[in-house]
Amino acid sequence: MSHGVSDSIAVARQILGPRAQPDVDLGAMTTYRVGGHAALHLIANNQEDLWKVREAKNEAELPVLVIGKGSNLLVADEGFKGIVVSLGSDFSSTKFDQSSGKVEVGGKVALPTLARRCVAEGLSGFEWAVGVPGSVGGAVRMNAGGHGSDMQACVQAVELFELRTGEVKTVANEDLEFGYRSSAVRQEEIILGASLQLGDDRDNSGARVLDEVVRWRRENQPGGQNAGSVFVNPSNETSAELIDRLGLKGFRIGSAQVSPKHANFIQADVGGSADDVDAVIAAVARRVYAETGIGLKTEIQRVGFED
Ligand SMILES: Cc1cc2nc3c(=O)[nH]c(=O)nc-3n(C[C@H](O)[C@H](O)[C@H](O)COP(=O)(O)OP(=O)(O)OC[C@H]3O[C@@H](n4cnc5c(N)ncnc54)[C@H](O)[C@@H]3O)c2cc1C
Repeated sequence: MSHGVSDSIAVARQILGPRAQPDVDLGAMTTYRVGGHAALHLIANNQEDLWKVREAKNEAELPVLVIGKGSNLLVADEGFKGIVVSLGSDFSSTKFDQSSGKVEVGGKVALPTLARRCVAEGLSGFEWAVGVPGSVGGAVRMNAGGHGSDMQACVQAVELFELRTGEVKTVANEDLEFGYRSSAVRQEEIILGASLQLGDDRDNSGARVLDEVVRWRRENQPGGQNAGSVFVNPSNETSAELIDRLGLKGFRIGSAQVSPKHANFIQADVGGSADDVDAVIAAVARRVYAETGIGLKTEIQRVGFED
């Protein structure tokens, strides 16, 4: 690490205090379970902690990454030379209003837990999320979805902390510019929580739908170390169909391979490397482009890579 960076980290540590952990294994915080360390990691339990992160970022001129469940991240083997923030206690509550179908949920809450709790509260419309291993914050940023729905269909508004200004803002659904696996939320913005509008589970079908979603996932998706679907679907064919058609299931570079079970999942071996995962992603995209002219885009967020 250069002098400049280590000086910046020392400045940031001083501002963030002893709860900021240096040299933390960031790869281990992701579902890929490969990749390097973060220079600093802080669990931000409240807004005061976030103000400190802002101060540290400005004073030390370090980049900040907010991480949820790490289920859509690939961390470079060289790691991330900045401050990684996870949401803590103040961002983990959930409030249900059964009569109106409104749910107020913290950004840290896990989607599968929330999906099950919504059903237990007699609410419908969030069952699809039981198989998405992300947090509310990460799911809003990515407009996570599946089984015919997504965050855009459920979110009314979100509460954001603006790292740039230190402001907390409420942003309505229509201003979040949701797209397929994307939103207007930038790296400088931290989602603290969301208000959802759900329906009434009138026919008591919620528990059955949860079971169906879980069964479908078990039957169709691989386990192991991955971040779910890698490529956004192009218009006519799914990415999985396209990659499978080119015979790339099982295609391997070093410690990473295209899943033999689902062609849009790229698996890392235990103890593998992020460079290998990245190389498989690039090689698949190149091959698809060369043979079909279709430019695949990844939905995985790459962290700490040079390019
Ligand atoms: C087995 C498996 C199955 C999956 N299936 C699906 C699926 O069906 N549909 C789908 O859409 N995705 C799926 N995914 C991908 C992933 O679960 C989703 O994208 C999820 O929403 C990411 O949430 P996260 O908390 O893990 O975000 P992370 O991976 O931690 O972060 C993803 C991005 O969101 C940002 N972020 C995280 N938290 C916040 C916050 N509080 N505020 C602002 N930005 C934040 C990060 O900086 C990063 O840019 C799957 C992943 C796996 C491993």
